[in-house]
Amino acid sequence: MTKQTHTNAGLMARRHAIIARGIGNAHPVFAAKASNSEIWDVEGKRYIDFCAGIAVVNTGHCHPKVVEAIAAQVPQFTHTCFQVVAYESYVELAERICKLAPGSHAKKAFFMSTGAEAIENAIKLARAFTGRSAIIAFNGAFHGRTMYSLALTGKVDPYKTGFGPFPGEIYHAAYPSAVHGVSVDDAIASIEKLFKNDVEPARVAAIFVEPVQGEGGYIPAPPEFLQRLRALCDKYGMLLVADEIQTGVARTGKLFAVEHAGIVPDLMTMAKGLGGGMPISAVVGRADIMDHSNPGGFGSTYAGNPLACAAALAVLDVVEQEQLCLRSQKIGERLRSFFGDLAKKNACIGDVRGLGAMTAVEFFHDGDSTRPAPEIANALKAEALKRGLLLLTCGNNGNVLRVMTPLTIPFDVLDEGLGIIAAIIDELAAQGQA
Ligand code: PMP
Repeated sequence: MTKQTHTNAGLMARRHAIIARGIGNAHPVFAAKASNSEIWDVEGKRYIDFCAGIAVVNTGHCHPKVVEAIAAQVPQFTHTCFQVVAYESYVELAERICKLAPGSHAKKAFFMSTGAEAIENAIKLARAFTGRSAIIAFNGAFHGRTMYSLALTGKVDPYKTGFGPFPGEIYHAAYPSAVHGVSVDDAIASIEKLFKNDVEPARVAAIFVEPVQGEGGYIPAPPEFLQRLRALCDKYGMLLVADEIQTGVARTGKLFAVEHAGIVPDLMTMAKGLGGGMPISAVVGRADIMDHSNPGGFGSTYAGNPLACAAALAVLDVVEQEQLCLRSQKIGERLRSFFGDLAKKNACIGDVRGLGAMTAVEFFHDGDSTRPAPEIANALKAEALKRGLLLLTCGNNGNVLRVMTPLTIPFDVLDEGLGIIAAIIDELAAQGQA
């Protein structure tokens, strides 16, 4: 409150005194303003943003068209609750999303505010439609922090520690990852094993899958894996639900990541990139499934807020007008070529992978994939912050650097950020730390 607390350290002290411990912080800085791919903190220091608010501002911070759309809506009305007094932007957004989502069948949609809520509602739909109760998700998956989405999440610490017991009839199978020694055959076999040991397929309502596992380590599912999941779901009458919350809205070089595999999920969840920074999520899918509830079975006071709908419509315009799918591919090519070169010189970079701009680097001690090196990822992140570059890690072992730039990042700013990473890796190597 007093002026001298308006430093990063002062605000952090206030934050720690009053904000519950369970809310983490990747960086000890407070934002003052942001524009496209740059953020300035309260002390006036500039950062290049390779986080995009966790893959949210795909159209960049404060894209003028998104800001304009929100500003134009503010004086009209900011909230009526769609279920109480409807507004056209909600309907228009659903129309556009249903047209853009894969598949030529009839589709319907509705909106929520967060990714976890979209997942919760997709579970409700899968159960109501199939009359079955069990759900299969994957080891390493992240689907949210509400109790059911958390039950689907396949990583214990920090997400699940202390919060159990979780709702029943959630099963986890292996997710394919070449570098971790799990083949597509292994992953499919682990589902078949569930059918043998744990649950009969006729009890399974749906398989939930991230087409690129996000928090789990930016691991793209091989197209064959998604195709085989599709076939398995068709064989047993289970629904295939693609969680596109992190992969959606051009992040992987296509509007939705499942398009790379040419499959059509029965339901899709999306959030993050959709609102360009405004909180909005969506459930989209086959109209016959989506209609499987009485009026009032879905909804939420703030869901599909008019400011968020206006922002999302502007985001979809920008994605199209600025060809952000193409740009995402170009960013990805540049990132993987840069990290590929860096890996040739540095054994600690054991894997470079990605789909479109959704790119990751995994650190191992001496390139040995059985010896994850979170220390290197963390040292890189901490040093990058000092040099004005915001990075985030992920992965089951916390040893993965994931790059999530706004898709509108100018290439000179991208290269400036990559230059910082290269210099730090060189220095860590020289000090024997990498
Ligand atoms: N699913 C995936 C794939 C995600 O990446 C996330 C967020 N990281 C979620 C679900 C949960 O979204 P939210 O944090 O908005 O609840």
